Amino acid sequence: MVEPCIILNESIVEDESAKKMRKHYIVEGNNNGYPKLALCDRCVQDYVVISEGERTYDECAKCGEDD
Ligand SMILES: [Zn+2]
Repeated sequence: MVEPCIILNESIVEDESAKKMRKHYIVEGNNNGYPKLALCDRCVQDYVVISEGERTYDECAKCGEDD
């Protein structure tokens, strides 16, 4: 899985650890419209993703992964 390297102020040395991060996703919700959730790579497959946002250290909204 290759992603274009977006140079942010803080991300220069994080190439390896970034793989463990969650990302924010706008997903299709129920009555709530389109909630923005932090999800890991596994759990995001259970959602209909509307758009993909930035990486985050927030724990996964579904399984709680936060390593
Ligand atoms: Zn998860």
